[in-house]
This record gives sequence, C-alpha cells and structure tokens, in this order.
Amino acid sequence: MCDYEEFIWSCEHSDFRLKSYCHKARNNPGHACNFVKRLRHCWDQGRPCDACLAKQAAEAHAQMMSGWYGSNQASHWSFAADHPSATVASF
Ligand SMILES: [Zn+2]
Ligand SMILES: [Zn+2]
Repeated sequence: MCDYEEFIWSCEHSDFRLKSYCHKARNNPGHACNFVKRLRHCWDQGRPCDACLAKQAAEAHAQMMSGWYGSNQASHWSFAADHPSATVASF
C-alpha cells in the first residue's frame, strides 16, 4: 500500500499526490503497486486549483476588457441618443 495525500480545492477539484511508496512499489522498477492506495491526508486548500485560477484570471481579464470596451460603446451610444444633432454637427 502506497501512501497518498489528497489536495481538496475550493473549485471541487482534487489532486492525489503520492506521499511515499510502499516496500513493494519501491522494489519494483516501474514503481507499480497493486495494493490498495492508502490516503494519509486530506488537505483542504481553501482556494481553486491552479487550472481554475488560470481560467478565472483569463475570464476576469476578458471581462475587464469587454467591460471597458462595452462602457465605451455605451457612452458613445447614449451621447448619440441624447444629442443627435451634436453628433451630426461634430462632423
Ligand atoms: Zn503500494
Ligand atoms: Zn479546479
């Protein structure tokens, strides 16, 4: 039985990490072990996993960009709607 630990991320993902090989796996060239894996620790990480963090960062970035672009568009349109003659006059 090899010892594993589990990392629980707040995004509901979890990772298993090998903590230590058992005697059998250590003596096997491929570290194969056909015994039951033994979970020694569960680590509650309290944060999303790296993959989800990267995804969140990318989404936040995209949202920030579209928010900036969107508000820019919105002010342009409200300006045009409030002052239709002004836009025409500015040309
Ligand atoms: Zn083992
Ligand atoms: Zn995740």
